[in-house]
Amino acid sequence: MKAVVKTKRGVGNIELLEVEEPDKIGPDELLLEIKATGICGTDIHIWHDQSVYVPPVILGHEYSGVVTQIGEKVENVNIGDLVTSPATVNCGVCYFCKTGHTNRCISAKKRILGVMGANGAFAKYMVVPARIIHKVPIEVNFEDAAVSEPTACAVHAAAEMGKIDLGDIVVIQGPGPMGLLTLQVVKAQGANQTIVTGISGDEERLKIAKELGADVTVNIEEEDPVEIVGSLTNDLGADVVFEASGAVAARRQAFDLVKRTGKIIYIGITGKPSEIDLDQIVEKELKIIGSWGTVWTSWRKALKLIASGKVKGAPLVTSKMSLEEWEKGFQMMEEKKAIKVLLIP
Ligand SMILES: [Zn+2]
Ligand SMILES: [Zn+2]
Repeated sequence: MKAVVKTKRGVGNIELLEVEEPDKIGPDELLLEIKATGICGTDIHIWHDQSVYVPPVILGHEYSGVVTQIGEKVENVNIGDLVTSPATVNCGVCYFCKTGHTNRCISAKKRILGVMGANGAFAKYMVVPARIIHKVPIEVNFEDAAVSEPTACAVHAAAEMGKIDLGDIVVIQGPGPMGLLTLQVVKAQGANQTIVTGISGDEERLKIAKELGADVTVNIEEEDPVEIVGSLTNDLGADVVFEASGAVAARRQAFDLVKRTGKIIYIGITGKPSEIDLDQIVEKELKIIGSWGTVWTSWRKALKLIASGKVKGAPLVTSKMSLEEWEKGFQMMEEKKAIKVLLIP
């Protein structure tokens, strides 16, 4: 089968290779026929050698697939089920796994599909441990199902870590896939007003934010978001700010957008230290929260939201292409010419 493989460490080193189809699976594993896989920021980082990974590895971890083979010890899964899963295969027994923070598993035995220790979904077939999968509700098609990983990340950030309250005024910085999904999740939670900010080059994404129900969108290079949020809140500031852009400047601006006693939830990774005056946390009595990945419950909630149509993946999927076109897809993601590219093996 054809597969998009990171062959060795270094910048680039990704090739479409002919590899052997996995035929033997373990007693606790499933063989999946991959239907669609999203290109994620992590894949781009691996492309540029800016992320943790262990080559050689087939990339891709935001997927949906149909079960074609079932290990002898696996229960409650049927041939033909459409499934998806998180990328992380946690250990299940470390302190963090046992206390419910499986997303922060500390074990050296932890594996990540398409990153380290386990091949990913940029291929026709993939083997996964049965215990990590989630069955996709019948109402959800395989393309929307492939967007359930970032949706579950947004659910974890907004519902499980951020805990939006009814009537909250929420700012989301960065209209990328995470920002647009967070927008939909906070609306489902009862946020009263949503403001999405972006920069020049984000015009198309801000338009989609509007279509997905953002009350106000702001290009921060043309208008002052602090002034706009002030005018919407009697100069109090937003109840909650989500930083989903991964820009240091946005991290800093979050402090100007949030109200005293408000919450800032950081989802974006900048990859470098941010210079921020942390006295503001004390003076404004702020709650500063980080959110990383997903736990089991994030997926249950995400799949229900997708099934009910409260979260829509389709408007984010701006391109679909074959594995052969992986490089074009990676480039489109990098140059913001697409919000989400799906590779269809
Ligand atoms: Zn991802
Ligand atoms: Zn663990």
